Amino acid sequence: MREIVTIRCEECKRRNYTTTRNKKQQQEKIELKKYCRFCQKHTLHKEIK
Ligand SMILES: [Zn+2]
Repeated sequence: MREIVTIRCEECKRRNYTTTRNKKQQQEKIELKKYCRFCQKHTLHKEIK
C-alpha cells in the first residue's frame, strides 16, 4: 500500500511536490530539502495532512 503525500515549502507555503510513502515503513511526517522554484533555492519541505 502506497500513499500519495503532498509536501509543501516551509518558507512560501506553496505545494511544490508530491511523493509516495509506504505507510507501514514510514510513520513519521516527511521532511525533505528540495528546490523551491518560488523561493528559487533549496528549502525545507514538509508533508501536508
Ligand atoms: Zn518556497
